[in-house]
Amino acid sequence: MSDPSASGLRAINADLHCHSTVSDGWLEPEELVRRAVENGVELLALTDHDEVGGVDAAARTARAQGVAFVAGVEISVSFAGETIHIVGLDVDHRHPALRDGLAQVRSGRDARAQRMSEALEAVGIRDALSGARRFARNPDLVSRAHFARHLVASGVMPDVKTVFDHYLVRGKPGFVEHEWATLEEAVGWIRAAGGVAAVAHPARYRLSSAQLALLFDRFMAAGGEAVEVVSGAHTEEEMLRFAHLARQRGLLASRASDFHGENESVVDVGCCRPLPPDLEPVWSRFWPPAQTLTN
Ligand code: AMP
Ligand code: MN
Ligand code: MN
Ligand code: MN
Repeated sequence: MSDPSASGLRAINADLHCHSTVSDGWLEPEELVRRAVENGVELLALTDHDEVGGVDAAARTARAQGVAFVAGVEISVSFAGETIHIVGLDVDHRHPALRDGLAQVRSGRDARAQRMSEALEAVGIRDALSGARRFARNPDLVSRAHFARHLVASGVMPDVKTVFDHYLVRGKPGFVEHEWATLEEAVGWIRAAGGVAAVAHPARYRLSSAQLALLFDRFMAAGGEAVEVVSGAHTEEEMLRFAHLARQRGLLASRASDFHGENESVVDVGCCRPLPPDLEPVWSRFWPPAQTLTN
């Protein structure tokens, strides 16, 4: 693309990463879409963890509200001993390869939650799994966020961030190792479903620069095309660092709040920084929507 800014591509308020109650967000898919519209979002992707169960409801609401919407997902991947997240955008959420792959990733969550609960029991926190389940609207998707909310609600810790720092990150008592999908599987499912793959919040991984370079080498070799340059989880400095990486590697750039809920997210849905103007936005792949391309 020669000059995306001239076509007004960059000017749109696109938010291509957020969560509903189908994973660990606080809002139902319908409520999330309505909030996005109130915040001025013009193009939205719902990207629940390992799950596309909220896409149909979100798409229906988006249609009724007159906002452009693409189906998305955030897939959990194991890479170099770390969990990383790959976002799929504009996927056919009914595609069997994607659906089966996601079902396989989700199937490990139950046993993991059980092991987390046992690990917490060992430090005197009883029956955390039942507590976490009360916060998980989708029984197939118990996340660490649900454990964190339970520990806050039961007075163990003052807020979710503190629970993570003390209990739920590697090296802390409630953390258990888990094998998620491989990077190649996740990118492969997204591509099979016709979507674009993006590395989510790349500044958040505990990887050396060499490991991060290898992550992007393998991601691109598998057909991954985008990176979240703007993320609710990035500082401005981190945003600039990954803008540089996008330029160097010729990756498409995404803009993503990673909104989970009012009290847990720094950035509200649709309220991210703009992308640096020289980068090609990932939504050039699916915006404007086909039906508006009349003349
Ligand atoms: P899981 O997929 O079960 O490992 O849970 C990961 C989710 O936990 C992330 O998507 C966030 O919603 C949340 N999370 C991870 N790390 C933190 C943190 N340090 N503070 C707050 N929430 C976190
Ligand atoms: Mn989450
Ligand atoms: Mn994530
Ligand atoms: Mn996320």
